[in-house]
Formats: sequence, C-alpha cells, structure tokens
Amino acid sequence: MTQQKEQHYAEDPVQVRETGQYQNEYVPGFAEKWDQLIDWDGRAKSEGDFFIQTLREHGAQNILDVATGTGFHSVRMIEAGFNVISADGSPAMLATAFENGKKRGHILRTIQADWRWLNRDVPGTFDAIICLGNSFTHLFEEQDRRKTLAEFYAALNHDGILILDQRNYDQLLDEGFSCKHKFYYCGEDVVAEPDHVDEGLARFGYSFKDGSKYTLNMFPLRKDYTRRLMAEAGFQKVTTYADFEETHRQESPDFYIHVAAKN
Ligand code: SAM
Repeated sequence: MTQQKEQHYAEDPVQVRETGQYQNEYVPGFAEKWDQLIDWDGRAKSEGDFFIQTLREHGAQNILDVATGTGFHSVRMIEAGFNVISADGSPAMLATAFENGKKRGHILRTIQADWRWLNRDVPGTFDAIICLGNSFTHLFEEQDRRKTLAEFYAALNHDGILILDQRNYDQLLDEGFSCKHKFYYCGEDVVAEPDHVDEGLARFGYSFKDGSKYTLNMFPLRKDYTRRLMAEAGFQKVTTYADFEETHRQESPDFYIHVAAKN
C-alpha cells in the first residue's frame, strides 16, 4: 500500500472524530514540516532537563517512547544515556525519526505500533513510558483511552512510571472560542491556532511561513479527566505539573505533564 503524501479528511472535517484519523494526518508531507514546527534546539532549551531528571529520580533505565513522532525525545533520552525503544503508529513519522537519529549519529530502534495494541507489537516491559508532545489527545473514543492506558500499564515494570503531557484544554473550553489564543511554537514563524473548538473536538490549524497549512483534529482532554482515567487504569499516584512546574505555582499554563506511578 502506498502512503498518501497529504492530509485527508472527510467532506466535513469537523465531523471527523475518530481515533484512527491520526494515520491520515501524520502523512509524509506533514512529517517533513513537523520539525519546522518544533525547532529542536529551542525546544530542548524550554524543556530543560525536566524529563531526564524525572526519569533519573525514578531510577528508570529502559524507556519506551510511544509517541516518537520525528524523534526529538527519543534522541534526547539516548544522548542522556537511557536505553530507548521508539514506537509510533505513523510510518511517516517513524521514518523521519530514523533519519533524524541517523543525522545525529544514532540508530533508533523503531517499532510501528498503535497504542491500542501496543503489547501485541512491542515485546518486553519498561521502567518508563513517555507519551509526549500532546499525543494522547488523538484518541477520540473513551474506550480507546482506557484501552491505551491499560496497554501502557501492562508494558511497565512493577515500579514503572508513565509520563504523559497534554495541552491545557480547560482554558480553551472554558474561555470559549472567542479567546482565540495563538500558540507560537519554537519553530520559526509557525503559528498554531484553533479553527474549531467544542467539548468533543479541538481542530487546530498550523500555518507555515511557506504558506502551507496543515490541521489536526484532537480531543480536548480536561486535566482532571485525564488524571481520573489514569487512576482508574490502576496507576497509584498521579502528579501533575504545569509547564514543568508543580500545578499550584501556575495559573494558566499552556501544557500539563502527568507523572503516573504504577506503584
Ligand atoms: N512526541 C512527538 C513530539 O513531541 O514531537 C510527536 C508528537 S505528535 C503530536 C503525536 C504522535 O502520536 C504522532 O507521531 C502520531 O503518529 C502518534 N499517534 C497518535 N495516535 C496514535 C496511536 N493511536 N497509536 C500510536 N501512535 C499514535
């Protein structure tokens, strides 16, 4: 089967609310653009060592990056000395990740795997799973979120942790579409803007300086809902950080990071 190069939506894109849609969104054309959206140096600077420190504090050594994308975190973790397996459901993103790794002198150990059937395709268990860059938002059905968290839980060692981040959708939903906040990524001249927001869909447009525009249909996860799903999947302790700081210190962050401990 040949892969389509450009994104594909049904006639009315706002009605496209299916978990499998990411396969039509992370196509080669968008994968090529993604690294402009998230300039690696700028991103490394703004994140600092947050994830690396958290993994070290938990004594993690073997890491599964389930949302590898173009490889930013996999490469960072390899360079920080962790053993990393890089998984993703999109072959276009994984291929770009592999090339990005090679450019930096690494051979990424990649596996194409959809989270809903993770343990079927990824053998073994891990000290930590990372699911970063607002990826969990791609699951549209609650059953898929629950199944995915159960798959993540099963792929962790007994004292393993899951680190999962998400955009602050509460603000977007509560302050309404009128608050049309523009999100500037670290990449040069790339603007992400909501095209449509309701309780079941956040459709964002990503405009690039060459005039091209891509979109992503995402499910707007409320912070406490994500925390509850994690607890209900069996995680014993869920700590949530706001823009890399503990939540009480930040009023309206752009991102939340959940660290869920299995035991
Ligand atoms: N973590 C990377 C980053 O921060 O740059 C990539 C983030 S990108 C927003 C989301 C990634 O999740 C995409 O590469 C997409 O293919 C992957 N993804 C979305 N839904 C998935 C699923 N059900 N199973 C596996 N991968 C999925």
